[in-house]
Amino acid sequence: MAQPRIGIWFIGARGGVAASATLGLIGLQKRLADSVGLVSELPQFARLDLVAWDTLVVGGHDIRDVTLTEEVARLHRESRVFDAKLVAAAQGELSSVDTRIRPGTIFRCGTTIEKLAANAMLGHSHELPRHAVERIQSDLKNFQQELHLDCIIVVNVASTEPATNFVDLPPHWSDLDRLLDEGPACPLSASSLYAIAAFQLGMPYINFTPSPGATPAALGELAELRKTCHAGQDGKTGETLLKSVLAPMFAARHLEVMSWVGHNIFGNLDGEVLDDPVNKSAKIQGKDKLLGLILGYDPQTLVSIEYIRSMGDWKTAWDHIHFRGFLGTPMTLQFTWQGCDSLLAAPLVLDLVRFVELANRRGEIGLLSQFGSFFKRPLGLENHAFDHQSSVLNEWAARQSQ
Ligand code: NAD
Repeated sequence: MAQPRIGIWFIGARGGVAASATLGLIGLQKRLADSVGLVSELPQFARLDLVAWDTLVVGGHDIRDVTLTEEVARLHRESRVFDAKLVAAAQGELSSVDTRIRPGTIFRCGTTIEKLAANAMLGHSHELPRHAVERIQSDLKNFQQELHLDCIIVVNVASTEPATNFVDLPPHWSDLDRLLDEGPACPLSASSLYAIAAFQLGMPYINFTPSPGATPAALGELAELRKTCHAGQDGKTGETLLKSVLAPMFAARHLEVMSWVGHNIFGNLDGEVLDDPVNKSAKIQGKDKLLGLILGYDPQTLVSIEYIRSMGDWKTAWDHIHFRGFLGTPMTLQFTWQGCDSLLAAPLVLDLVRFVELANRRGEIGLLSQFGSFFKRPLGLENHAFDHQSSVLNEWAARQSQ
């Protein structure tokens, strides 16, 4: 059977993660990149009918006045990432992707994100949420028609929105739908408007960010009503990944973690946005929560995220774990993690597109909890231990190839 032609629609298409994923995809298509870092290229997934890299096409929304080509060049120059040969070879394709990036929405994104937005975006700033959804849908439909796509996977890699409290949100879509006509009184933020737009068109949505996206119950219901699927939330790429590997070890050896302190410093645009305390609190909630869930008790924890401009896309996390062993003996584990943020995230985003596309093609509906190993807050998966989460993914894969 002919391979389906699939669109990847990045929300935040000119950001570090999207730019790295787009360049990586072009590299894979031109056979200028190898598969290191790509989970979907591991042997246990070889028998799955995953889409080939060649059939994927990128478009998206963003809010800033930069080009994708400039963003790739900036990452290359300032953070010393990417092979110069690949960057040079990808110029034509990057420019083509740029023509497919449309102005998004900044509805309820807070002042720090609003400040990033281009002047052209401000024309949309008083748009009713329903009109924003319709405009997003028109962009998605044009992308699908112009490129003759069988399906589009919408991936949120936009800046982290301020934390939202959804306690009063109606749990059913029929009630929430009405709020889209309420202008500023509508409690949903942009990430959820993008999810609504995708679901109403029957398109899957992946939330790689801590923003709410599809988490309100009514949106989960909408996905089910439109027979589509979603996965999230907030990519697990560095320090939290290590926590989900190390905490189960302390639990299995009956060592008592008394405190776990993690200090993170980095200097990319994501770090600049997270420098605003209201945006930062949304991120920190996800980084801290898993320890108590894995250990079964709550050690004292501290997570700090600081924006240090000179670090660029390179993140250093220093973790100090103070634990108690036999006869009350206190001991310490410390580690430093020095990772390049966008290059850790980009392959996972590409993997998620392939896995979610397959699940969608096979008729899976609603929340896809089997991809929880990719996320800090794995929606639908209670167990945060990385080993367990990887087994869930492998078991799903084994069932697909039976
Ligand atoms: P970034 O700041 O480089 O890129 C974000 C992009 O989103 C920017 O181009 C910005 O203009 C755009 N944007 C902001 N608000 C938007 C909106 N409402 N609509 C459309 N576009 C919008 O950030 P990044 O490093 O690429 O990270 C992207 C997201 O992924 C962040 O939320 C981050 O917290 C999350 N994340 C990243 C990693 C990682 O890099 N390792 C891991 C987990 C989660």
